[in-house]
Amino acid sequence: MTTLSGNSYDRSIMPLARDQCICLRKIDYSETSQILLLLSREHGLLRVIAKGAHRRTKAGASNFDGGLDLLDLGEGVFIYDSAKELSTLTAWSLREGHLDLRRTLRPIYLAQFAAELVGNLIEEHDPHPETFDRLVRCVDDLATPKLEESFLAFELDLLRDTGYLPELESCVSCSRRVMGDPAVYFSPARGGVVCRNCESLIPDRQPIDVRLIRMLQSLLSLPRANGAPARLPRLTRHQTDPINRLMIGHVEYTLGKPLRLRRYVV
Ligand SMILES: [Zn+2]
Repeated sequence: MTTLSGNSYDRSIMPLARDQCICLRKIDYSETSQILLLLSREHGLLRVIAKGAHRRTKAGASNFDGGLDLLDLGEGVFIYDSAKELSTLTAWSLREGHLDLRRTLRPIYLAQFAAELVGNLIEEHDPHPETFDRLVRCVDDLATPKLEESFLAFELDLLRDTGYLPELESCVSCSRRVMGDPAVYFSPARGGVVCRNCESLIPDRQPIDVRLIRMLQSLLSLPRANGAPARLPRLTRHQTDPINRLMIGHVEYTLGKPLRLRRYVV
């Protein structure tokens, strides 16, 4: 955390903090203000109000560069109190507005869905600097041909870090390893793979190509650099859609609610 030097009065009762942040959700609040969900690098998820975010001075400037947009990456200054539900964002300086990403729909849907996943799977005020760095990298990659594999790798790391990754090696019913099996099933409710002997016992099981499970396992065990796979294989939606569907189904079951943007992604 960086604490800004202010006057002693401010310092004693209102710690000001400066941190890199990505905007995960925004609601315009009154004509000039915004309520935002930010993922900050060092302070975790933050709900903030940006008062006067849309207000501009005659010189065209505001403390918020004219307001935040989804997925904007920048440096925020906020009055930080972890006991409060809503912190106050006092200044924002945009570092990356991702204009490349915003030209076509698929990258923007994947980026917004990544933001929705992060906003739902991470607890507030619980710092996840690695997730922050991976989200920054993933959003950058979504503007390139590497978008499908980058999104999937980000999703898997996020699920693993937050304890939402399903069981992919052994049957969730009988614990037998399934990798040699010709047919494998997956249960979103039980959170993992199901073997052929047990499939009749698990009502929500869905057949899944065993090659996709193997691909998932190899993605998870790729050599890593700076907390993310160093080099990803190229993947198409033909490969990633069935996996995303299973992962999202499992997350929705575990959260007990549908994810808003899933229909735009799979
Ligand atoms: Zn079994």
